[in-house]
Amino acid sequence: MSAGSAHTAADHPCFFVAAAGRFGRVHLPVAPHCNVTCSYCDRRYDCLNESRPGVCAGVLTPEAAVERVERALEATPAITVAGIAGPGDPLANPDAALRTLELVGRRFPRLHLCLSTNGLMLPDYVADLVRLGVRFLTLTMNAVTPRVGAQIYREVRWNGAVLGGEAGAGRLIERQLAGLAAAVARGMTCKVNTVLVPDVNAAEVGLVAAAALQAGVRLINVIPLLPVPSCPGGGLRPPTAAEVERVRAALPAGAIPLRHCRRCRADAAGLLGGGHGCISDGDGGRAGDGRQGGRDRRLR
Ligand code: SF4
Ligand code: SF4
Repeated sequence: MSAGSAHTAADHPCFFVAAAGRFGRVHLPVAPHCNVTCSYCDRRYDCLNESRPGVCAGVLTPEAAVERVERALEATPAITVAGIAGPGDPLANPDAALRTLELVGRRFPRLHLCLSTNGLMLPDYVADLVRLGVRFLTLTMNAVTPRVGAQIYREVRWNGAVLGGEAGAGRLIERQLAGLAAAVARGMTCKVNTVLVPDVNAAEVGLVAAAALQAGVRLINVIPLLPVPSCPGGGLRPPTAAEVERVRAALPAGAIPLRHCRRCRADAAGLLGGGHGCISDGDGGRAGDGRQGGRDRRLR
């Protein structure tokens, strides 16, 4: 968090359920590219790691992102967080992401800065994020076993090479764990998201949570898969509500399961909503479970 912030850590609506109905966040879609290919992701859509799979209104420049925060705060003064959560991976777009965080942190020192990542490049950028005042970090980890990860990550682009199968998943997992440990060591408040793909990683989520606990992270956000028909994993079935709850209930001792995540778009803004979704005004309720009413606003 930038120096001079009037907000406390407990004001982050995603990390602390008690803050969810009172405080809001604005997502800044400045990161179009990704360095991983998840089987459930269609690039024309928001990152499923942290979003409902609806197209975002458009990618912003860092300067336009600052204006967006300005408008979001005018519309919803209770916003306490500005974050980058896609539509690709922020750290696969480091120049835009870091510049945005710098500009927003300078212009709005009261806001918390937040970032969501797949973790591949996290070890390289933890120091920059801390320097820029980013206090909150979400890492999405869907596996800790390369064999399982290989069923989710089709490709991992690393140092100019395209790694597939267990080699790619293994490299990603190794970097995720290193990045998470570094973020915790630097004092960032972290949570781990896991996309639950029921026939693939249901038995793996507990191991992911155990690895997170080992790194000092207790907040675990199990996100049900939302299959996107146009991508290779489009035929995968989503978990039932009972399956999601079983997995959450079976998390290892010490883990804190989050249940209020609304799988927001990469351009969501406003309150998370008391039991409502984070869908933007004007998108007609498309995407995701498509049944949630929206309290977010779309700001252009
Ligand atoms: Fe898509 Fe996010 Fe996976 Fe990248 S990390 S492929 S943007 S779901
Ligand atoms: Fe918060 Fe929405 Fe991100 Fe979930 S998807 S952590 S509710 S902003």
